[in-house]
Amino acid sequence: MPLPIMSSPIRENSITTILAVAAGKGGVGKSTVAVNLALALHEKGYSIGLLDADIYGPSLRRMLPEVRLPQQEGEWIEPAVCFGIKMISMAFFRREGQPAAIRAPIANSVITQFLNKVLWGKLDYLIIDFPPGTGDIQLTLAQQGKMSAAILVTTPQEVALLDVRKAAALFTQMRVPLLGVVENMSYYQPSHLVEPVYLFGKGGGAKLAEEEEIPLLGCIPIDPAVSFRSDRGFSLFIDDGTGLPMAAEAFRTIADNVLSELDKLGNRTQQRRMREFFQIDSCHFSIVWDDGQKHTYSLSDLQKECPCAACAEQSPQINSEVRAHEMHGVGNYALKFSFNSGCSNGIYDFDMLYQLGERQ
Ligand code: ADP
Repeated sequence: MPLPIMSSPIRENSITTILAVAAGKGGVGKSTVAVNLALALHEKGYSIGLLDADIYGPSLRRMLPEVRLPQQEGEWIEPAVCFGIKMISMAFFRREGQPAAIRAPIANSVITQFLNKVLWGKLDYLIIDFPPGTGDIQLTLAQQGKMSAAILVTTPQEVALLDVRKAAALFTQMRVPLLGVVENMSYYQPSHLVEPVYLFGKGGGAKLAEEEEIPLLGCIPIDPAVSFRSDRGFSLFIDDGTGLPMAAEAFRTIADNVLSELDKLGNRTQQRRMREFFQIDSCHFSIVWDDGQKHTYSLSDLQKECPCAACAEQSPQINSEVRAHEMHGVGNYALKFSFNSGCSNGIYDFDMLYQLGERQ
């Protein structure tokens, strides 16, 4: 039986940098940071996408009211557009206020679709608003999200730090570099006082940054304009005649710091690309890469290296005649094989395939 050619084409999304915004805990202002970082980067002229990965409590749609709803295009989804930012969220696919009675495997498959089946087109930055916690969905995101870096959001008090440390550990385990810490609700500045008031304590963000050996990207004050505008879908960066809210400047500084920290991370955001794919016979194929290198693969060698958790644990016996009944592209960065011998979970990202090709 011949090796089937891709069952779905690799669409040409071109995303330079994927950033996760995570907190480990709800209510610290993670979504507020994700949205306003997106707006501050958009203000600087970058093309931005936002992926609301909180399947159970999507909140970005309220903050960013759409001018265009998402559109279905075959098995692909065109994202919504809000304030010039492309956005996808579970909020577009269920009524507001409706309980999210979704079982974990379904939530996971929604996340996989958001990661792989959204037609972002060309983006400078895709920002993923991570759901709170460090469970199955977060693991799927960290494994499949191809993130260049993660930003940790915390409030100053110790109880918020406990959870954000768990999120930091997840990214470190998944080899996603931590870009820095944003401390939200750092202080309140009443107009009649000279000194700010530290309602939730002081220095939690700096402490976390020191522990993780990453920079503090900025501190955002408690600003009533943030919740007022967020609840009504007004941008913090539009002057309504009373001047910009205090927090807007803090977000601009954070956007500058994010850009300069990403510069320091350097070429890690560059992704390997596939130029051409050739089938040789039912057990072998070749790939020509963006740098002109051509590698030839045998499916049995590939299955021995299957990166899925079950194969990594069990090291199954593999014969030399391994074939695949299906193979398709995952996003613009990986291939997935359904081997005849059973396993169909391994996602082979292009970096991994390139390295295997070099070895073979
Ligand atoms: P999370 O995503 O961590 O659950 P949200 O971003 O939804 O948190 O923020 C929770 C609430 O706090 C929202 O009502 C939001 O408007 C408000 N909020 C967040 N940051 C600030 C801030 N710096 N000043 C005032 N209100 C804030």
